[in-house]
Amino acid sequence: MTTPLVEMDGDEMTRILWQMIKDELITPYVDLKSEYYDLGLENRNKTNDQVTVDSANATLKYGVAVKCATITPNAARMKEYDLKEMWKSPNGTIRSILDGTVFRAPILVKGIVPYVKNWTKPITIARHAYGDVYKNTEIKIPGAGKAELVYTAEDGTVTRETIHEFKGPGILQGIHNTEKSIESFANACFKYAIDTKQDLWFSTKDTISKKYDHTFKDIFQNLYDTTYKAEFEKLGITYFYTLIDDAVARVVRSEGGFIWALKNYDGDVMSDMVATAYGDLSMMTSVLVSPKGVYEYEAAHGTVQRHYYKHLAGEETSTNSIATIFAWAGALKKRGELDGNKELADFGAKLEHACVKTVEDGKMTKSLSLISTFENPVILNSLDFIKAIRETLDTLL
Ligand code: NAP
Ligand code: MG
Repeated sequence: MTTPLVEMDGDEMTRILWQMIKDELITPYVDLKSEYYDLGLENRNKTNDQVTVDSANATLKYGVAVKCATITPNAARMKEYDLKEMWKSPNGTIRSILDGTVFRAPILVKGIVPYVKNWTKPITIARHAYGDVYKNTEIKIPGAGKAELVYTAEDGTVTRETIHEFKGPGILQGIHNTEKSIESFANACFKYAIDTKQDLWFSTKDTISKKYDHTFKDIFQNLYDTTYKAEFEKLGITYFYTLIDDAVARVVRSEGGFIWALKNYDGDVMSDMVATAYGDLSMMTSVLVSPKGVYEYEAAHGTVQRHYYKHLAGEETSTNSIATIFAWAGALKKRGELDGNKELADFGAKLEHACVKTVEDGKMTKSLSLISTFENPVILNSLDFIKAIRETLDTLL
């Protein structure tokens, strides 16, 4: 390795897996150069969350990060970790610094059959992570009255639209988005489609929302026409816009193998639907792609808290480490690609292959065995599963 990988350690069971993965699957094979940031909740608390900001800035500097799942504190965690403050979600903090879009894709293995039987290739969901209903203003209307939408420009000019003349009680919601955020989302989507040589689909409800959703559609189309069309045509991939209801029908009938870009709420809902239909969250990868050209790889699942408490109680756990191993593999592949280090990129690909092959050979963790079609799978504990992957890896190298 020439350029260091930004390594973001995390919490609970995934922190335990993190060390096992490094010890068994990374450091014996790779002369690992990494800049280590401990995003475990204790250290975030100790550094007043500065470590999260530092790790994101290091990602901007070096270009590729790999992140372990982290706790987003709530009231219970405040007590459990004796926190100074209810620190914000690290993923949110990192995402706002990198200005990124999250792409989630399932890991497909034989023996774990998607509920939608024609989905033979992964569907990658790209969710816009800013605005709309997630940054809304709401009013509960107590009774009759007029609701208006008012915009006052910097020069004092006022634009006013009636939303509704209420005859009785009701509800009201104000949402927004910015052209800048939509553009950066669109850029990340087009770039990732080019990176992974997959078609890009985008869908909204522009027929009903003629200004709001239509602006999303226009920004995507305009960027495609002016910036990405030639590269897409060269690679033989397509950009395809359709209404969201039409998209849902087409997605279900498709064989997969494309990126589906969605607005914030649609992406939230559809990513859980797609993840569940492919198997479960422990087989979903996640990569944050920034329009600034930097990447952060992680698993889509959380810290697997319940398993951690079992682990602390000295009980055996059988936690699936595949998504976290794929995060490492994805980061190594990208680092290799950016540095022209083919050996490193090849190793990342083989590490992925070793995970898939180990499961296809019938060796897996408990949760995977429950959704697999294998008759007599060998169920392994957390460490033994990683060791089994190492054995497979050795045969591939
Ligand atoms: P979770 O950690 O994803 O786990 C939910 C349940 O899903 C687990 O209890 C387990 O089911 C199953 N599961 C998830 N990943 C698994 C794996 N790799 N192997 C086997 N089973 C797996 O979600 P959570 O319990 O809601 O959240 C725990 C903590 O994670 C929270 O503090 C949350 O803030 C954090 N979180 C972090 C991220 C992130 O950093 N990206 C994302 C989501 C949540 P069983 O217990 O039934 O076996
Ligand atoms: Mg959700």
